[in-house]
Amino acid sequence: MAQQGVTPQSEDFSRWYTDVVQKADLADYSPVRGCMIIKPYGYELWEGVKGGLDRRFKATGHQNAYFPLFIPESFLKKEAEHVEGFSPELAVVTIGGGKVLEEPLIVRPTSETIIGWAFQKWIQSYRDLPLLINQWANVVRWELRTRLFLRTMEFLWQEGHTAHATHEDALAETMRMLGVYADFAINDAAIPVIQGRKSSQERFAGALSSFSIEAMMRDGKALQAGTSHDLGQNFAKAFEIQFTDESNGLQHCWTTSWGLSTRMVGAIVMTHGDDQGLRLPPKLAPFQVVIVPIFRDEATRAAVMATVERIAALLVEGGIRVKVDDRDNLSPGFKYNDWEMRGVPLRMEIGPKDVANHGVALARRDIPGKEGKRFVSQDGLVSAVRETLDAIQANLLAQATQFRDSRLHKVTSGYADFIDVIQRGEWALAWFCGGKACEERVKDDAQAVSRNFPLDQPHPGEHGPCVICGTEAQEMAYFAKAY
Ligand SMILES: [Zn+2]
Repeated sequence: MAQQGVTPQSEDFSRWYTDVVQKADLADYSPVRGCMIIKPYGYELWEGVKGGLDRRFKATGHQNAYFPLFIPESFLKKEAEHVEGFSPELAVVTIGGGKVLEEPLIVRPTSETIIGWAFQKWIQSYRDLPLLINQWANVVRWELRTRLFLRTMEFLWQEGHTAHATHEDALAETMRMLGVYADFAINDAAIPVIQGRKSSQERFAGALSSFSIEAMMRDGKALQAGTSHDLGQNFAKAFEIQFTDESNGLQHCWTTSWGLSTRMVGAIVMTHGDDQGLRLPPKLAPFQVVIVPIFRDEATRAAVMATVERIAALLVEGGIRVKVDDRDNLSPGFKYNDWEMRGVPLRMEIGPKDVANHGVALARRDIPGKEGKRFVSQDGLVSAVRETLDAIQANLLAQATQFRDSRLHKVTSGYADFIDVIQRGEWALAWFCGGKACEERVKDDAQAVSRNFPLDQPHPGEHGPCVICGTEAQEMAYFAKAY
């Protein structure tokens, strides 16, 4: 229960995050180190994320399916880069039912291999393409340094896997799904992400190219919030995913994969939260409105509760997610703090005076104090609430965008300035050759790597000297410290 405050962001952002995740009742630690227990309120927030994405996946022609948790060890070895990239973080089952297994089973870290194996059976002809599949699942990566939602050994995600007849089609799918992630992040999560291509050092193990959406947290650090990969024919060749084309020739497919995980919950917390706790975007909030009834005695209680229940029913009918906080052992002030901590976008207070005046009081979570509070009539209340929720959604995006834009710096003045921007926790956009040695140098000097080459380049078609080595670079990239 949220009564004591949280550590202020300015004092210790990392402690603030842990405090909020626990006090807002999103998640808790588990007896297994590195794992996490997602509590009901946190899980409902994740369900909001799932709902927003699933709707978009289906609208772009994808179908959900489910593949096994266990993958034969030999599958991972079929794609050389893939196994090299994932080996250090695999969980392997060697004993089953008390007997040593003939072939160890990998607990999936991602499912390209087992889905590739299935695709090879499902695809025969060009008529079977494109094949557009998504799965909602858990995956396991043996992480030693973990943070609730941001990096946990087991996490929930969706992974999309598609197969196409041409590289052009596969690349179009890769970019389409990157766009779907960006659309969800911006319009539902109110997170102004930057879309771009990862450097070759930072791309997915086994991909030709990887793309990401990058979000800025309130400490200035970057968080990769979703990725989309053009896998070329690497997995198609490893798993013999072939089709006969229109002239009866046999060809390998071109595949893609894309994923977004429960990290998104952490991104929402760290993009919008403040020293009073969470601030949830109305489109994803488990409860969009909390109604707090106010009464002094039994006589006023009945009238207040009758109004509260009538209004709650009206809001539910209007498609608004409502919680009535009718806990009798707690004061209204305690309840206000509690729901502020949990980030409910709009609080509605109803007391005897409001009943008499046929009104209610509305208090916005995104605007503190008196400024965010107003009295409205019970007539036309549903549309007043809807408009207010839309205004809150827009305001959170506007605030996050303003915060981000004030910390993005295009650096053309040289390496020292470039490192300085990164060191003070902001983002530097600079010409970058993409080279490994350059990326390593930034890692050593500023504990940061490139985030991405943004699709939206400030000088398209031009080139400039790499901020690190000075050779001609074709594109600018963002560099920042990251989660
Ligand atoms: Zn360079």
